[in-house]
Amino acid sequence: MSENKDPHVPQGTQGVKFVYDFTEGNKELKDLLGGKGANLAEMTNLGLPVPPGFTITTEACKVYLESGEEPAALRDEVSAHLSALEKAMGKKLGQADDPLLVSVRSGAKFSMPGMMDTVLNIGLSDKSVQGLAKQSGDDRFAWDSYRRLIQMFGKTVLGVDGELFEDALDKAKQAKKVTVDTDLDAAELKKLVTKFKKIVKSEAGRDFPQDAREQMDLAIHAVFDSWNTDRAKLYRRQERIPGDLGTAVNVCSMVFGNLGPDSGTGVAFTRDPASGQQGVYGDYLQNAQGEDVVAGIRNTVPLADLEGIDKKSYDQLMQIMETLETHYKDLCDIEFTIERGQLWMLQTRVGKRTAGAAFRIATQLVDQGLIDEAEALQRVNGAQLAQLMFPRFDEDAKVEQLGRGIAASPGAAVGKAVFDSYTAIKWSRSGEKVILIRRETNPDDLDGMIAAEGILTSRGGKTSHAAVVARGMGKTCVCGAEDLEVDTKRRRLTVNGHVVEEGDVVSIDGSTGKVYLGEVPVVPSPVVEYFEGRMHAGADDADELVKAVHRVMAYADRVRRLRVRANADNAEDALRARRFGAQGIGLCRTEHMFLGERREMVERLILADTDEERENALKELLPLQKKDFVELFEAMDGLPVTVRLLDPPLHEFLPDITELSVRVALAESRKDHNENDLRLLQAVHRLHEQNPMLGLRGVRLGLVIPGLFTMQVRAIAEAAAERKNAKGDPRAEIMIPLVGTVQELEIVREEAEQVIADVERSTGVALKLALGTMIELPRAALTAGQIAEAAEFFSFGTNDLTQTVWGFSRDDVEASFFTAYLEKGIFGVSPFETIDKDGVGKLVRDAAAAGRATRPDLKLGVCGEHGGDPESVHFFHEVGLDYVSCSPFRIPVARLEAGRAASTSTGSDHR
Ligand code: PEP
Ligand code: MG
Repeated sequence: MSENKDPHVPQGTQGVKFVYDFTEGNKELKDLLGGKGANLAEMTNLGLPVPPGFTITTEACKVYLESGEEPAALRDEVSAHLSALEKAMGKKLGQADDPLLVSVRSGAKFSMPGMMDTVLNIGLSDKSVQGLAKQSGDDRFAWDSYRRLIQMFGKTVLGVDGELFEDALDKAKQAKKVTVDTDLDAAELKKLVTKFKKIVKSEAGRDFPQDAREQMDLAIHAVFDSWNTDRAKLYRRQERIPGDLGTAVNVCSMVFGNLGPDSGTGVAFTRDPASGQQGVYGDYLQNAQGEDVVAGIRNTVPLADLEGIDKKSYDQLMQIMETLETHYKDLCDIEFTIERGQLWMLQTRVGKRTAGAAFRIATQLVDQGLIDEAEALQRVNGAQLAQLMFPRFDEDAKVEQLGRGIAASPGAAVGKAVFDSYTAIKWSRSGEKVILIRRETNPDDLDGMIAAEGILTSRGGKTSHAAVVARGMGKTCVCGAEDLEVDTKRRRLTVNGHVVEEGDVVSIDGSTGKVYLGEVPVVPSPVVEYFEGRMHAGADDADELVKAVHRVMAYADRVRRLRVRANADNAEDALRARRFGAQGIGLCRTEHMFLGERREMVERLILADTDEERENALKELLPLQKKDFVELFEAMDGLPVTVRLLDPPLHEFLPDITELSVRVALAESRKDHNENDLRLLQAVHRLHEQNPMLGLRGVRLGLVIPGLFTMQVRAIAEAAAERKNAKGDPRAEIMIPLVGTVQELEIVREEAEQVIADVERSTGVALKLALGTMIELPRAALTAGQIAEAAEFFSFGTNDLTQTVWGFSRDDVEASFFTAYLEKGIFGVSPFETIDKDGVGKLVRDAAAAGRATRPDLKLGVCGEHGGDPESVHFFHEVGLDYVSCSPFRIPVARLEAGRAASTSTGSDHR
């Protein structure tokens, strides 16, 4: 590709070719020529009217940015291409009597609209402006072009504050009492040029360069430099565009839309980017250059009006748009200029579109025979589907923003502020909609969270309790809104001088993290209605969007290899997950079954001093656990259900240490001994840990609390036997959490097998219960080969694995310092959100391979939050896992992305 076939074009260092004529490139060369350059080349080769020019590659930019100097051979290569351009145009750059003028435009691989620099009209000087005036027969046009050059060049190349030029232009208009710049005549523009040159001299400390080649070279460097402006860096970080790609530079002969009423400039789309509808979409501005349209200085007219203004150009444009859409097989957006009745194409690219339009366009193009189903899958993505699934705030609504936190669980929720779970439940029972506002939530808040429309916390990140539970329930959540001072005692929050009292209405947007005062109107999602089965894609009046989503999901399901399961702990969630397409449960967190009234039973279990007390406590819990499992197995009949034995630190089931200490101390001072409180306090002290996430939890609990795990295993086995007796098809799998070594697993396994055998004997029902483990500690991953000897399946717990591999406390880091990490570009996205492929991912890949080497039929899945993250799903597909498991609401996204990962694209470059 970098071979240079043209002997007249000098080679760059190490034989690299740094400059490509538009006739040499094509649309596949975006890495090298940037999106704009590659597409200009493609249009040139299609025979469309593109002004001639050439592209300096991103490789040249990279050399310049790394070394601070352009590659040694670039100057000669540019000279050779410029000479060829001058020959083709029959005039020289900046030639005094008839100047060739060029534009110098940035153009990276991925579109970064408005982020980088462009300079137009290069080649004009005090002399050549006269030549241009003579050649065009239009003094005004020549002087207007010159003042534009000095203005743009001054601002972007010489770093002069753009306001100074704008102010001078405004003053000139005021002096003449006009409002639009087209009303300034040649003499006034000439004066403005003198003024602009003075501004340059005083602000930049140098004269505006009169040498055309110097103008061009400086502009090229300025475009290179613009890759690293703060706003460009910020944009890249947000859009997750790598920082080392560099920009290409397009040098293109100028065509003019400002040569009078038979000239103009415009933008067009081959379809409506908001709906996907075919038609004539775009804007046109007579007698103007491109930046006038963007700047909104004068009012544009709808593109359809061009038909009346210049029918010939309009017809040609329509023809070209059809050619482009058929050629690119997609919606294209276009920039064009008409110079005295001659149409020129300045840019095209595959256009950005709304999430809804993406689905509609993909299926429309399949129907038109332009793309196949595999390609249609590449035209949409999980993030777009997720966007379509959440109710949204009405964009036209008037809002008062209170603050902003982390967008933890998408959606739009409105309700009265409440500051404790009790009030949340009480108010919601009486029909009120509430937003539960806490500093942070804990398992005690679960009922309050269920009762609330949405959850807002001032602490915690995307994997904090509030975030994980809210996502699990598909409930809107904004967390870590640190500006909000939440005072649960006084039942109010303060932010930027506002006080929100209990009962005041607030609105929270879990897709943006924004928090509003008052009620913002909400629109429901038809796509969720469809997944819930309340809207049918086959119905005659079905929404076009729903039909498109239905078809794309069917393609994805047909091709995907990864199965998709749900993280669900109760029958209601399990049934929803099934409706959404879950093929089983990959993680039932049993700790969620020990809350509410059952908490006291667990408390009794922990406090038991004798075997008898402990056994009594376990006996109380057993039937309740069994009932939970019967319901779950029934809801998921015929599909696998992975039940994880108890995981979190036990003290989570005990009262808060400070509160209890105060209570006991007060009682003591009143000489009012409460034996139970005293014992409780001792237990709480005994179980208190500095690092509970690294303490007595997971398999460790099962090993030190006799009877706990065996009670759970018995409940699972008895529930499975009961379902079998009821002619059901239960497919339970028992999962041991936080295993670090095979010995732990072996002990639990032996005990479990005995219990299962016992239940089989007593019920007379043969049970096939798979026993496996989570891989969520580095040691487990590193010794996966050994662990597989005792495990029939692995489920990667990537939340804990990320926490332990990075040494990041998952409940704290996102709200405390991740923002700084993201700003510094240490990572583009939280590793708790998207799997860190090089670190955590490497352990997953290696552990999967080691496990399968020991046990070829080892079943492999993932049940951390990453199981529902689009990019991570692709990774899990690639490393050969069997399934991903995620919260019910993310199941359609995981199905879609699993399909996208498995389908082979026919080529287009869709991000
Ligand atoms: C995990 O660690 O990835 C996991 C699924 O378990 P939990 O989030 O419940 O710790
Ligand atoms: Mg875990």
